[in-house]
Amino acid sequence: MSERKGNTEEQNEFAENVKGEVIYILDAESGRKGYFCIGCKTQMQAVRTKIKGRKSYFRHDATDVKKIRGNVLLVMKIIAIVKLFQYLTELEELKYQLFINILPKIPTEKLLKLEIPNL
Ligand SMILES: [Zn+2]
Repeated sequence: MSERKGNTEEQNEFAENVKGEVIYILDAESGRKGYFCIGCKTQMQAVRTKIKGRKSYFRHDATDVKKIRGNVLLVMKIIAIVKLFQYLTELEELKYQLFINILPKIPTEKLLKLEIPNL
């Protein structure tokens, strides 16, 4: 993740409190004191600094963001595995159909001349 993205997406001057009231960063208490993102409603942390030239801001709780991303990745993996199994089952079905319906209809002399490709 780039610094730039972090500055535009992860740092905000405003957040909501538990009551849904919009709080300005300079009116907020430092830390995880029940602040939530106005956009996505996940928990935010107030980062207050007394260092000159450094901005105070609200940032998304890194652990929450990571947890959500982790869960999304897990769900995507499960979907991919399920799709793969469905595909394999369909392949099995296709092979079965081939043996039951198509092979018996091909005359034996033609079958013997068939060239089987190397897989
Ligand atoms: Zn958000």
